[in-house]
Amino acid sequence: MNKQILLTLLILSTFCTPIAYGQKPKSKLTVHESIQFETDKIFDKLVQIRRDFHENPELAGKEKRTQEVIKKHLLDLGLQVETEIYGYGVIGILKGDKKGKNIAWRADMDALPNDFPDPSDFKSKVKGVQHGCGHDVHMAVAIGIAEVLAKNKKSLRGTVYFIFQPEEETFIGAKRIAENKKFEQFKLDEIYSLHVTALPAGQIMVKANEMYAYQKEINIRFKNALSGEEIKELTSKIRNSLVRSNNGSKPWEIQSIIDPKIGLANPSTIFKDYLIADEKFRTYSKNDSFHMNAELYETDADKIKNIIPSVEQIIKDSNYGSQLLSVSFIKENPTVLNPPNLTRNSINTLDTIYGKGFITPDYGQVPYFNDDFAYFQQKIPGVYFLLGGSNFEKGITAMNHAPNFEVDEECIRTGVRTFSSLLFERGK
Ligand SMILES: [Zn+2]
Ligand SMILES: [Zn+2]
Repeated sequence: MNKQILLTLLILSTFCTPIAYGQKPKSKLTVHESIQFETDKIFDKLVQIRRDFHENPELAGKEKRTQEVIKKHLLDLGLQVETEIYGYGVIGILKGDKKGKNIAWRADMDALPNDFPDPSDFKSKVKGVQHGCGHDVHMAVAIGIAEVLAKNKKSLRGTVYFIFQPEEETFIGAKRIAENKKFEQFKLDEIYSLHVTALPAGQIMVKANEMYAYQKEINIRFKNALSGEEIKELTSKIRNSLVRSNNGSKPWEIQSIIDPKIGLANPSTIFKDYLIADEKFRTYSKNDSFHMNAELYETDADKIKNIIPSVEQIIKDSNYGSQLLSVSFIKENPTVLNPPNLTRNSINTLDTIYGKGFITPDYGQVPYFNDDFAYFQQKIPGVYFLLGGSNFEKGITAMNHAPNFEVDEECIRTGVRTFSSLLFERGK
């Protein structure tokens, strides 16, 4: 390229760029305008980064390549990089030029053991493994925030820790990182995260307290095996007594979460105050006893303690009372719990920057899903958001883990600019 053309291009680019940002020259942009400007500038690159993760998914505990790729991006941005916290986790540390708090952003890294037909042009190259939960998007968003905040380092207060966490799907990674001594030394003040899901792209949703229903697995042990008929009869007795929903609604039909009348965004959503139980219990014989297992989703923490006594009572009152050995929970994971004050502060911060109503209030609790981010929240005050990744006009439905899972990549832009702004403000 000769000098003349280069000069023309430089003039053109300095002339062209500010137009999209209120006719202001770049030096006059406010921090949040600059965040939007930088986000738009790297958006195409972030899409490529996401597609690379999508083509090369790795299961929980095997995120070796993913770790290498993330490490390289973070080092290129000039961040300090720490590994050996747990598994293939990576932490990127960005120090602002001004004093402030220690704020963390968490992205999960692992893919799913799926083999669904993938409609995208950038299909998984690994047979039987797919990014069917959207963690590829989460990593691209986190790398994007790191770049945008690195570009605003001069005005950034405090230190931002980008936690790339392995093994989310197995519910192991967050717990192990959170209890690691090296991690504790970071003395984080606050931690934030998101999950992409089947809301319209561009929508961000949050609520105080539980984002999901409490996920439990109940185990009922008998002395002897029950016949098929007996299992059916007992299952229906237990379900009739436990299952609860709002005015006979069907919160187990999860696709309704986007319905404007009964979905999460409506104050009278059906996704509150319910208990869902598997229709069929899983049965097997082990160690000389017969087991019946079922997954349960309960929205109310207080009501969980009634479940085991009432199941025991139902069985004692049935013909199988003398056969009963025990009733217990074999899965007792914590659930994502957003502290009310910090949630309110985060909503206010973002509504102030991007306009009132920018954050959509969430009135329900999503069944079937959970996130081990809950373990970070047990140690560090933190808020977890839902990021819409669907585009119904384009036929894209981001229902995590479903065979038709797809993401409108525009959500990467929304995620990067919104949460760059939030982390920037929270560091003060
Ligand atoms: Zn998942
Ligand atoms: Zn996930």
